[in-house]
Formats: sequence, C-alpha cells, structure tokens
Amino acid sequence: MNPTVDYLRISLLDRCNFRCQYCMPEGEDLNYILKQNLLKRDELLTLLREVFVPLGFRRFRLTGGEPLLRPDVVDIVRDIATLSETQDLAMTTNGFLLSEKAEALHDAGLQRVNISLDSLHSETFDKIIGNRTKSRWKQTWNGIQKAYEVGFDPLKINVVVIPGVNDTEVLDLAALTVERRWHVRFIEFMPVGNANLFTHKGWIPSEELRQRIRQHWGLEPASVTGAGPADVFQIPNAKGTLGFISQMSECFCDRCNRMRLSADGWLRPCLLDETGQIDLRSALHQGASFPELRQAVRHLLHLKPEINFKDRDNGTLTGAYSRTMSQIGG
Ligand code: SAM
Ligand code: SF4
Repeated sequence: MNPTVDYLRISLLDRCNFRCQYCMPEGEDLNYILKQNLLKRDELLTLLREVFVPLGFRRFRLTGGEPLLRPDVVDIVRDIATLSETQDLAMTTNGFLLSEKAEALHDAGLQRVNISLDSLHSETFDKIIGNRTKSRWKQTWNGIQKAYEVGFDPLKINVVVIPGVNDTEVLDLAALTVERRWHVRFIEFMPVGNANLFTHKGWIPSEELRQRIRQHWGLEPASVTGAGPADVFQIPNAKGTLGFISQMSECFCDRCNRMRLSADGWLRPCLLDETGQIDLRSALHQGASFPELRQAVRHLLHLKPEINFKDRDNGTLTGAYSRTMSQIGG
C-alpha cells in the first residue's frame, strides 16, 4: 500500500544547458517539447491551486531539464511559495546559473535546493556534462557556494555514481560533509536515458559505497529534512550527512509519495510507469472543469503502481526506460 501522495515533482522544461552522459548524451536526437506547448506560468498555478492543493498536495519540487533556464523561474517560485498550503518548496538544478539566481530564488520563497555535482575534478566534470569549451566546474561550484551563502540549508548535492567514471571520487565527495552542513547523496545509476553507457559501465550498489566509506571513517545512521527515498547516514562527528538513493538495489515503491508533472502538462504516476497518464494541459484547454480534473487525478492516484527496475523487464531499456530523466522530469 502506497503512503499518502502529497508531493509533486514539476518539470519546468525538458531542455538543458548540460548534456550529462548518463541523462541526455550528446549526439542523441531528443524530441524537445515545443515552446508553445510548455505549461505556462498561470496554467501551472491554476492546476496547483484548483487541482493539486485541494487533493492534498503540499510539497513541490521544481526540476527539468534545467529549471533555471526558464526565464520566469523566480516568478513561478514566488507563485507556489505564496500558496498558503505549500509546506515545502524545493528545486533540483545543475547549479550552473545559481550564482546569479540563488538570492532571488531564496527571496521568492524557495526553501531547499539539490544541486548535481558528479565530480570535484573539472576535467572529469566537463567530460560527464559533455562540455568541450571553457570548464564549467568552477561556475557550478561557485553556484553551490552562493546557494549556501544565501541560506539554503540543508544544501543537498546529488552524485550519480558511474563505475570507472567518478566512483573513485566517492570518498572525496563524502569528505565534503565533514566540515560543511551539506547533505551529499549518492544515486545509483539507472537504466534511463543512455542505454549504451549503462550497458557498458553498469552501476554500483549503495551498500558497496557505504562499505568503502565505513572502512575509511566509520558510518552511523542519521536523518535529514526532506530525505525522501534516501537512506541517510553520517560520518561520525561530521557536520553534514550522506544519503544513498538505491532504486536499483532496493525497491522503495512502498515509500513513494510523489507524482510527476511534465513540462507540457502530462501527469505521470511513476518514473517507470506511464499507465493512465493524463494530459492536464489539453484538458484545461478543452475546458474541463476543476472537479473533472480533480476526479481524473484522484483516479490516477489509485493506479500508482508498485514496481522497480529489477522487477520490470529485468532492467532492460524498453518502454519508459527509453525516455531520459530530463524528459520525464527527474
Ligand atoms: N538538471 C537538473 C539536475 O541535473 O540536477 C535537474 C534535472 S535532472 C534530470 C534530476 C536528477 O536526475 C539529477 O540529480 C541527475 O543526476 C539525475 N539523473 C539523470 N539521469 C539519471 C540516471 N540515468 N540515473 C540516475 N540519476 C539520473
Ligand atoms: Fe541536464 Fe540535469 Fe540531465 Fe545533466 S542530469 S543533462 S544537468 S537535466
């Protein structure tokens, strides 16, 4: 039985200024959503106010693609923060534009931010994000510092661990938490987005990473605000914490409390399963009433499946797997 679903992940657009190897590799033809088909700021607010909030949704995360590429991102944050029912408002970003936007986002009411940082070495970082021009590591790192400075706390860092690419940095990345109140989260590489890389490199179970950290420093259970699906630990006496998101090695569907709204308004019950998904944007345009929309979403909530990567297609890349996280709204 699923817990109460009160958390909506909202993709603001499917485009990105990075081309991470594991998410939207260069050279792959992605069918981007046309600009005119993106859910507009007022449509999103209407859906939240009239459909999701009345159904009990209280926690929202803005993601993408890269949410900071959306010119109206600060206004969208302010809209959602101003809804009196909002209990939590967070964002997942690659951090590249945070130096310039962190303060405005914080002032507009964004409460928490998760930033992807897969390497502490600019060369590896640029290789992962598919960058061949001036290194983007420093600006991303500055974005992280700026976010912390303006008051995002706890600040979460997301690391997708890929064998032979950045797994040798796990101890260095974990060490960031010793002196900083940061929450570093290691994410198991999923077979979503880049089939070749997944087949070629594979993934490392979280427990193996914990073993490495345990052997080096020791590791004890901890907790963190808004931990979601992460199992949270701490290096003894560290200021920050370590999270492990183990969707490959463990099924956490029974803890799943979220739905996903794509940038063009499709509501999906699950990262892996699009069964019954609803096109809320078209429904709005066709004049569906708010009670009708609420009924459709309520129905979808009952369809929310309990599956995981291993149970489905033996982890092969078929169906939903052929979509990237940037398209689904990771
Ligand atoms: N652009 C933003 C970012 O990178 O943080 C937000 C969107 S991104 C799709 C959201 C998260 O999905 C990131 O933390 C990214 O590392 C993760 N992600 C993307 N593809 C993944 C994959 N194949 N396996 C595991 N995590 C993935
Ligand atoms: Fe862009 Fe985020 Fe995907 Fe990287 S993981 S390509 S930053 S959407």
